[in-house]
Amino acid sequence: MYWHKTPCYIQWLYPQLTWHKSREEKTIYVTFDDGPIPEVTPQVLDILDEYNAKSTFFCVGDNVRKHPNIYQEIMNRGHKTGNHTYDHLNGWKSSSKEYIKSIDKCKALMPEAVFFRPAYGKIKRKVITSVKKDYEIIMWDVLSGDFDVNLKKETCLEKSIQATKKGAIIIFHDSIKAKENMLYTLPRYLKYFSNKGFNFKSL
Ligand SMILES: [Zn+2]
Repeated sequence: MYWHKTPCYIQWLYPQLTWHKSREEKTIYVTFDDGPIPEVTPQVLDILDEYNAKSTFFCVGDNVRKHPNIYQEIMNRGHKTGNHTYDHLNGWKSSSKEYIKSIDKCKALMPEAVFFRPAYGKIKRKVITSVKKDYEIIMWDVLSGDFDVNLKKETCLEKSIQATKKGAIIIFHDSIKAKENMLYTLPRYLKYFSNKGFNFKSL
């Protein structure tokens, strides 16, 4: 079970995390989690270029290790990157020590990243304090649901559009599981909001 639109009370419970940006600007912050992988990420980069969109990629360290050329390409095309742990750990099921170790292992592969996003959005309060010394922790206010194989791609697009307002941070996934929904939704989402005068920036 998940929400396309992050409820306000969750955002109030964790004010130390970034959930969205300024509601004054017609800007959307499109983000991608779990790559980079050769099967999906290069296609995403091409779609973003088509709409002159800059984005932020929260990368799994192990994928950066396996595909350093794609990681480099993300930066060459003017996007930003964030740490998403080395092995996509669940922050509620790992010890703090193990979790920080995974962040550090990822950091060694992408020292330029200044953003962190916890996998599954799950992170312990005491870990937040220590991660914040090195990173701005980026959550989201719009979840496309692209990873949900039971969600129809048309619904994925519709829900993503409905949940988006000025300053939104939306999550997509450059992963095999999300590929079908994401590659359908992303260009249509960008087109819809471009036509409404929005632009797309990296964090
Ligand atoms: Zn993830």
